[in-house]
Amino acid sequence: MIIIPRNILEIPKNGIARDEILELLSGEMKVNDINPFKRKCFGLSYLIDEDHAEFVKSAFSTFISENGLNPMAYPSLQSMETEVVAMTAWMLNGNRKTTGTMTSGGTESILNSIRAHRDWALDTKGIDKPEMILPVTAHPAFEKGAHYFNLNVVHAPVRDDLRADVEKVAKMVNENTVLLVGSAPCYPYGVIDPIEELAQIAAENNIGCHVDSCLGGFFLPWVEKAGYPLYCKWDFRVPGITSISADLHKYGYAAKPASVILYKNDDLRKYQFYVYPKWCGGIYGSPSMPGTRPGGAIAAAWATLKSIGQEGYIKYCQEVMDTTKKMCDGINAIDGLHVMGKPDMSIFSYTFDDDLHLDFYKFIDLVALKGEWFINRMQDPPAAHHNICRLHAPIVDEFLSDLKWALKKLKSMPSTEEIKGQAAMYGMVGTIDKTEEIETLVRDILLSEYSYNPKRKK
Ligand SMILES: *Cc1c(COP(=O)(O)O)cnc(C)c1O
Repeated sequence: MIIIPRNILEIPKNGIARDEILELLSGEMKVNDINPFKRKCFGLSYLIDEDHAEFVKSAFSTFISENGLNPMAYPSLQSMETEVVAMTAWMLNGNRKTTGTMTSGGTESILNSIRAHRDWALDTKGIDKPEMILPVTAHPAFEKGAHYFNLNVVHAPVRDDLRADVEKVAKMVNENTVLLVGSAPCYPYGVIDPIEELAQIAAENNIGCHVDSCLGGFFLPWVEKAGYPLYCKWDFRVPGITSISADLHKYGYAAKPASVILYKNDDLRKYQFYVYPKWCGGIYGSPSMPGTRPGGAIAAAWATLKSIGQEGYIKYCQEVMDTTKKMCDGINAIDGLHVMGKPDMSIFSYTFDDDLHLDFYKFIDLVALKGEWFINRMQDPPAAHHNICRLHAPIVDEFLSDLKWALKKLKSMPSTEEIKGQAAMYGMVGTIDKTEEIETLVRDILLSEYSYNPKRKK
């Protein structure tokens, strides 16, 4: 057995020339990466065009070494962050009491909200065995938060329309419940939960209601302003909502890492802040999870909101809605395929019709191989997931024709024929019925993926 040296790598003795490194970074290092500007990737990046991307890069680099941890040292960052939060509060129909902070992303916004609600409930109501009710479509960041902060999770099912079953949620509320969660929209199916009804249940029980609009926060307001019908109100116009997460680095078109967490008022936000007054290093206070906070992300978010403006966001929203409609109509027109539920914005998924007994993952592998598409797979049932952005407008016909080609091909293939792709992996995981075994398997993959290996291709 050859032992591959792993995990340690000597730092170059003498530094390598800067131009050589920059060339590596923009060349060789990137050759196997997805390039979203090729318009083939349906997730991970949310882009408008290369000009905007360059603009964001410049804004970010202007504040590359500034630190948002100390507002006294950088009044610039303080004013930009508070403006970003205030503009988000305006956009989500908040009032003068609405407050919040910027965070490093949707996950951190959600973690902050969970912890704030937990500590609020302990402090004001003495709840020390906190519970949170999560629709099964809620993002795993909530499970992560429950795990980190010791909350019990109760899962609520979704209805036939794939929106949270609020009647079931109402029955699950008990004396330990501190937080109800709804998504606007949820990641898997792109549908908005019945937020008004959820918030009413929360208000009647004097508990928290978090709306996860990480995806929709910077998109749905423009959907409404552009005149499309909305399933329901989901922002601060709904009285029972106590916090909302909205990602700047998704449809806000800002740089990573950036999101906003908003609270109904400071009675709640104060539980997000952390203070340790006794440290010999000085009195320590911090607004969110990290210590050091990237000034670049704050500057880039501020620059993006100011530069795109309401009219820009509305225009981009209309373009993306058009493309989404063309994609969904095209998919629904293919015999054997259907879009799941009624997506409320630009995120949707599709699966095989019930009477089509073929391997869906093989189908997606064929599609992906045919056009070099990067498509996210879902499970229970097997489905494919797409986030649409402005870059996808020109590829709709090509994509739909690849779907048709792949379905025809799959039908004509012997079922035992293997295809290069993810079907084999999903097939294997499908045969494991113990959750712990899958967890161990995935953890092992992560341990290996996040370890240095000189043999790994870039
Ligand atoms: C992306 C997303 C999150 C998590 O956000 P990150 O920025 O990836 O941490 C949470 N909820 C929804 C609905 C999302 O789409």
